[in-house]
Amino acid sequence: MTDLISMTIAEARNGLANKSFTSLELTDAHLAAIEAARALNAFVLETPDKARAMARAIDAKIAKGEGGPLAGIPLGIKDLFATKDVRTTACSKILGNFVPPYESTVTSQLWRDGAVMLGKLNNDEFAMGSSNETSCFGPVVNPWRREGSNTTLVPGGSSGGSASAVAALLCMGATATDTGGSIRQPAAFTATVGVKPTYGRCSRWGIVAFASSLDQAGPIARTVRDSAILMRSMAGHDPKDTTSVDRAVPDYEAAIGKSVKGMKIGIPREYRLDGMPAEVEKLWTEGAAWLKAAGAELVEISLPHTKYALPAYYIVAPAEASSNLARYDGVRYGLRVPGGSIGEMYENTRAEGFGDEVRRRVMIGTYVLSAGYYDAYYLRAQKVRTLIKKDFEDCFAKGVNAILTPATPSAAFGIGEKGGADPVEMYLNDIFTVTVNMAGLPGIAVPAGKDTQGLPLGLQLIGRPFDEETLFSLGEVVEQAAGRFTPERWW
Ligand code: GLN
Repeated sequence: MTDLISMTIAEARNGLANKSFTSLELTDAHLAAIEAARALNAFVLETPDKARAMARAIDAKIAKGEGGPLAGIPLGIKDLFATKDVRTTACSKILGNFVPPYESTVTSQLWRDGAVMLGKLNNDEFAMGSSNETSCFGPVVNPWRREGSNTTLVPGGSSGGSASAVAALLCMGATATDTGGSIRQPAAFTATVGVKPTYGRCSRWGIVAFASSLDQAGPIARTVRDSAILMRSMAGHDPKDTTSVDRAVPDYEAAIGKSVKGMKIGIPREYRLDGMPAEVEKLWTEGAAWLKAAGAELVEISLPHTKYALPAYYIVAPAEASSNLARYDGVRYGLRVPGGSIGEMYENTRAEGFGDEVRRRVMIGTYVLSAGYYDAYYLRAQKVRTLIKKDFEDCFAKGVNAILTPATPSAAFGIGEKGGADPVEMYLNDIFTVTVNMAGLPGIAVPAGKDTQGLPLGLQLIGRPFDEETLFSLGEVVEQAAGRFTPERWW
């Protein structure tokens, strides 16, 4: 029988339609792969019974010629998405065994379109992190290893479980979220494709909130086409999220293979960092050459406020987090640690329920929002944010269709290797991705090559608001030129 787990979503869709195999067979193959890959710690909850029940139901529909665009496709869901009657924790002790009585809009659209849920995927606690080491369920392991070494590497974060599971063929695609890079950075670390849609494109309803003005849901998949297929189901207007935009969802897949001839691609000079590894620089040049060969025109552009993006992000994001996380008080969700008074109960619950990184963010956020410091930090960061957004608008106004940058400043690093002494070392991972969230723009990370140690590296394309289609067209050009990369199985 065909290898059921290494197919793309597009291939599986054909196989299911031709009746070459059933969704139940496809689902069982993935459940077996998940069971054999527990060493990766990608799933924090496996839901085999639910998966098989969903697969059987969709098989019955397919037999009748029904079934939506994702009919029978097994997916993994980041544990930040509320799933009805299925434990949802954001990988924080404070949510304990919280079982939501409702389904997030994005996941409900996936089930509407026929997808099958395999289980919940690991992530950094409340999506705060770049390595998936802050999860209360422990770190996720990257299926990639350095050549000739068995050091375990991080898959990136915060959507580390999503990226690792997709790369290791445990699910055909996964949901993820991106506040400062959490879809694109782990995609780059695992040779998967990650899309951060325009702010407002996917509903945030039912997704555990981190920084509401930056959070966006998006897919991680193994090909650009698969990510386009998933996006179509995930996107759409939702009256339950007031920031969700009422705009028709295009057929993203139709953008694949469209000519990019004549498109203007910006190469921002500020992204050429001092001390950037030569191989990242080389990859970037190579990526530009591939787009040029496909008929695009390259132009050097300037995004002068880039250097302020990371510091401003680390004011805005913690400020919003400190206010969003105020709801975890020991009364409404999960964990409660008793105390002598209600105040003490709040304090004990929060002290015990939140991990170190989350506590750090809550403290920074509360500080920058406090009366004496609001103007100096929070208000100033908001002004910087406007300038960052304007940098991009100025380039787009000059006819730039998309911007090409590296996705990350390095390849995946070892578990425990970064951020121990200085958290800023970890924050620097997002140097190329946070600007996009600050400006609310869409971005895609596409696997583009390997470093000297054999680890994958990705390129990022940044688009105009609501022009994800151009990113899919350009992303496909990069994918065609670079080829696809699969880790060797060792687990
Ligand atoms: N690494 C960044 C942070 O820790 C971004 C996380 C994310 O996008 N959720 O805040």
